[in-house]
Amino acid sequence: MPEAETRTPLLAANWKMNKTLAETADFFAAFLDRLPDNGTDVIVCPPFTALAAAAEAVAASRVEIAAQNMYQEPHGAFTGEVSAPMLLELGVKAVVLGHSERRRHFGETDEALARKVPAALRAGLLPILCVGEDDAERDADETADVLTRQIDTDLAGVPEESLAGIVIAYEPIWAIGTGRTATPEQAQEAVSLIRVRLSGRSTEMAEKVRILYGGSVKPDNAAELMDQPDVDGALVGGAALEAEDFLGIVEAAGG
Ligand code: PEP
Repeated sequence: MPEAETRTPLLAANWKMNKTLAETADFFAAFLDRLPDNGTDVIVCPPFTALAAAAEAVAASRVEIAAQNMYQEPHGAFTGEVSAPMLLELGVKAVVLGHSERRRHFGETDEALARKVPAALRAGLLPILCVGEDDAERDADETADVLTRQIDTDLAGVPEESLAGIVIAYEPIWAIGTGRTATPEQAQEAVSLIRVRLSGRSTEMAEKVRILYGGSVKPDNAAELMDQPDVDGALVGGAALEAEDFLGIVEAAGG
């Protein structure tokens, strides 16, 4: 069975609704030349409008581009939506699904995610599925229940043998954009709970699947979070908007 060391650390930058085309070009001009070749995988998730330019900017580098959402159907009467084939055509390789901001502000449900995650996989995109509890749920000691429900429902349509082909990001909502980072122990506990839950479906896949932590990750706390045995990288929001900060996080992940 593969050990944790065989899971390549992954750093993903979630730009949310930030960066124009000019700002995207500026970021990559500052980022790519200084990106260390340190055995990590690096993904940047720009808004839809910057995907094509970002994919072009990173084409000769080891950076991959992800979208922040997609719809499960390939085409049709779904105004305002974007499909997997449309993303692939731009050179996009991955897609963030179920970010808490989409769940909270745009009514994204676990049932919708149960359709989106397998659709992304079938299309050849790497799904990065976000899960996590809010502060009331943590205070009520419901973290395990929330994570279990999200993992079970959102991944219900993913065949066992494909489970290692997804990435999961544990993002406690109380830590996103708040500056209130989970302690390394809290991150490890939740991420390990997710891995144990997945091992109920396939021990082999559970050992292979990469599980990230997200929530106020910064250059100065990244190393201790990623030192945890089950934490395989980070999904980074605010600190990924500046090339310098995101480079610091990538460096920390390389050990
Ligand atoms: C995120 O948006 O996924 C995130 C983790 O944001 P931040 O790093 O700003 O908390």
